[in-house]
Amino acid sequence: MPETPVTNPLLTEWTAPFGLPDFAAVQPGHFLPALKEAMRRHLAELDDIASQDAPPDFDNTVAALDRAGALLYRIDAVLNNLTASNTSAELQAVQREAAAPLAAHDSAVKMHPLVFARLEAVFGQRQQLGLTAEQQRLLERLHTDAVRAGAQLPPPQQVVYAQVMQELAQLSTRFAQNVLADEADYQLLLQGPADLAGLPGFLLAAARQAAVERGLPDGALAITLNRSLIEPFLTFSERRDLREAAWRAWVGRGERAGPTDNREVVRRILQLRQQLAVAHGAACYADHALTDSMAERQSAVRELLDEVWRRALPAAERERQALLAMMRSHGQKGELAAWDWRYWSEKVRKARYDIDAAEVKPYLSLDRMVEAMFDCARRLFGVRFERRPDVQAYHPDVVAWEMFDIAGQSAGLFLQDNFARQAKRSGAWMSDFNFQSLNRGVTRPVIVNNNNFAKGAAGEPTLLSFDDAQTLFHEFGHGLHGLLSRVGYHRLSGTQVLRDFVELPSQLFEHWLSQPDVLRQHARHWQTGEPIPMNLVARLKAAERWGQGYETVSYCGSALVDLDIHARHGDVTDITRFETEALARLGMPAAVGMRHRLCHFQHLFAGSSYASGYYVYLWAEVLDADAFDAFVEAGDPFDKKVAQRLLSHIYAAGDSVAPQTAYTSFRGRLPKLGPLLAKRGLAEEGLPAA
Ligand SMILES: [Zn+2]
Repeated sequence: MPETPVTNPLLTEWTAPFGLPDFAAVQPGHFLPALKEAMRRHLAELDDIASQDAPPDFDNTVAALDRAGALLYRIDAVLNNLTASNTSAELQAVQREAAAPLAAHDSAVKMHPLVFARLEAVFGQRQQLGLTAEQQRLLERLHTDAVRAGAQLPPPQQVVYAQVMQELAQLSTRFAQNVLADEADYQLLLQGPADLAGLPGFLLAAARQAAVERGLPDGALAITLNRSLIEPFLTFSERRDLREAAWRAWVGRGERAGPTDNREVVRRILQLRQQLAVAHGAACYADHALTDSMAERQSAVRELLDEVWRRALPAAERERQALLAMMRSHGQKGELAAWDWRYWSEKVRKARYDIDAAEVKPYLSLDRMVEAMFDCARRLFGVRFERRPDVQAYHPDVVAWEMFDIAGQSAGLFLQDNFARQAKRSGAWMSDFNFQSLNRGVTRPVIVNNNNFAKGAAGEPTLLSFDDAQTLFHEFGHGLHGLLSRVGYHRLSGTQVLRDFVELPSQLFEHWLSQPDVLRQHARHWQTGEPIPMNLVARLKAAERWGQGYETVSYCGSALVDLDIHARHGDVTDITRFETEALARLGMPAAVGMRHRLCHFQHLFAGSSYASGYYVYLWAEVLDADAFDAFVEAGDPFDKKVAQRLLSHIYAAGDSVAPQTAYTSFRGRLPKLGPLLAKRGLAEEGLPAA
């Protein structure tokens, strides 16, 4: 470890607004010494809990545990946010070096024998202590966390368990860094006019911008593996050879022989996860992971996935037939390949619904869509967002907003980091610098949303596709789950709910984007200010059902392969072969394929929170489709009473209530499957894809 600098800005008081650190002063070299010191303090806090004379009770043990480790949490959050959004070779080295010590620390905390003994003592008397429902929930969650981290294992086994956790932490860091390296490494340079055939203006602008960011000569055009470039390229490029080349690079991430090869990394992760499962008495990792979920068991998840898969396969086949017919009508012979699907699908969509993605984008400028999502939050929950240009985050692109609650009180800080950069991981996500709580002093939440939109050219706005706008709303739904949290304890705050519940607030929020009322008001042409034509909205809505077969099959296939590989006993030797065989068993159409292939499936291997949990999006979609129906039944997408119930039982409740209870309190009953099938156009079997 490097020498401790004289003043480490991570260890002095953080005086920036909302308790943010002085980002400009933080250097990669500050992290390891700061983390080390914060871990030391955390363990000292635990020793204090353990060595009290007073017998264990809720406050001196359970609430005290929830208070402990606040400094470490905040430093770790800064490191995680920086390595995800604005990384560098130095930060990546820190991340690699810190992974094992942080995992070891987590094991030491959760297995702390004296603290766990006190926790067990309180847990044993939990019915007699007169605890509130939230206190009871905190006690149960902390107890479960400890047990699942190995606190009940015999000491010799605990040593092995902690080693496994450390190795896993190192491997998942490597996995993520390998994917990022493969993405940063690739670019398809478009050379002459022939390379540009079919590409709309927005894509050329984005390719020019991507080239600028990569320091390429003036006027160069680069297609990178960023989703907001590669997907439109596969959708519009008339050059089948270029589509194929780009597609191969995209699906090959993490699978190239050499230093960034993830195949061995995945194999080892699976082996270690099996060891964890066995230590907990489970047959396989999927069983172990699902014990602590709303679904509780594999059979419940498979039942849902199988039902949807069964309906989606014929829908995808009907789509494929339509694409083939379109190909033939353009005089194209041969088979439809994976790099053709989006291209011909766009042609069918355009022909059937008279929708052109390039026609929609001018109405969906990023700024206006941000206004739209804030406006929806205001109409639903009474909150207001104000720019805070004085708040400096870690990159000039990051925009800060202060949130005020319905009473006009400052209630949180919302950071938006919307643009793609080479030093940022792909995808879109929400994370936090701090969660709301009342137990570590009154802490207001500091929440960040990351997107990877291709930035508009100088002097022009960033224009979104309808999918991009949906992603924006999705992440803001997670953001609101963090920002609106009103719980007592840190551990129960915001998005720290069971993982098959976490996508409910995000997916639900997407519904408001497609409300005609919202689009009419906010989707305005960036040049003329004209609202989006209502017949375009109607066509957009009709077209939403086009392509659901493809989407559902590529998603469900990924979720099923995730379950399959984690239901094995850690004995998969050839990852690529396993994937091929699993897809063949399922009957996955070759031209569709998985949404994320195993070697770059970050949900599964860049961490463990979605491992054998990729199904959660569909699980939550059952909830969100059913939940939005509550507004439909009330006859108003902003119905005050329904919104109030939604706020108090879902968005503000964090994990202070068990998810089934939270949902039932909101809806008056458990969710039904029907609304999801209807939303995906899969409700009636045998209908033509429309
Ligand atoms: Zn999400």
